[in-house]
Amino acid sequence: MSDGHAWSRREFLQISAIAAGSGMLPHQEIGTPQRAASGLYYPNRFARIVIEVLEEILGRNGLNTVLNLADLGGLVDQYPPDNLKREFDFADFTALNVALEDLYGPRGARGLALRAGRASFTQGLWRFETLVALSDVPGTVLPLNTKLDVGVTAMANVFSKLSDQISNIHDEGDDRIVYTLERCPMCWNRTADRPVHTLIQGFLQEGLRWVSGGQKFNVEMTTCLAMGDEIGRCVIYKQPIG
Ligand SMILES: [Zn+2]
Repeated sequence: MSDGHAWSRREFLQISAIAAGSGMLPHQEIGTPQRAASGLYYPNRFARIVIEVLEEILGRNGLNTVLNLADLGGLVDQYPPDNLKREFDFADFTALNVALEDLYGPRGARGLALRAGRASFTQGLWRFETLVALSDVPGTVLPLNTKLDVGVTAMANVFSKLSDQISNIHDEGDDRIVYTLERCPMCWNRTADRPVHTLIQGFLQEGLRWVSGGQKFNVEMTTCLAMGDEIGRCVIYKQPIG
């Protein structure tokens, strides 16, 4: 480089991933993740929805770059099948999240993961029985508190029943609901200095907006397995903020 420009780690990763996707790195085995599997799974449909949603947000090329960087090049143009078989390993799902961060930086990735999480709820609403049942909730005369409880419980159930993600609901006082991640597909074998299960945060935000008939709620990630906490938590404040 004549201008003495030193490549940042991110630039290097972007260029490597693009090169891998274009076949410019002939010795790189594409589509065979080298990392150790977790043996814990999301059903294919969860992964497919997130990948489809990322394609919508990032465009086909952006998504392919992310997939290649995550060592998931085998998924380029061949998304996981639309079924409920538990086959998408948590290690791969975490890698997808890490690749977003490597490419777009912590702040950029956070915004993208939030958007992707929200859009995933919208997609899931008609593709998962447990969530389809929520469709009627906004129109009922149930009190807001009850709507929130029903919604958050259904959202935890869809994960706990169909995947190896373990989520529970804790009522910790009148003003909040605590949504836990005892086992988290975004934090597998990952360390971070801040909570990183942002996809779930976005998913919860959109689900709450839906069941409440359009209100906004504050959802905070307070603890995270990647930070060394015993469990991950999202705290939902029941008072609408808009
Ligand atoms: Zn986490």
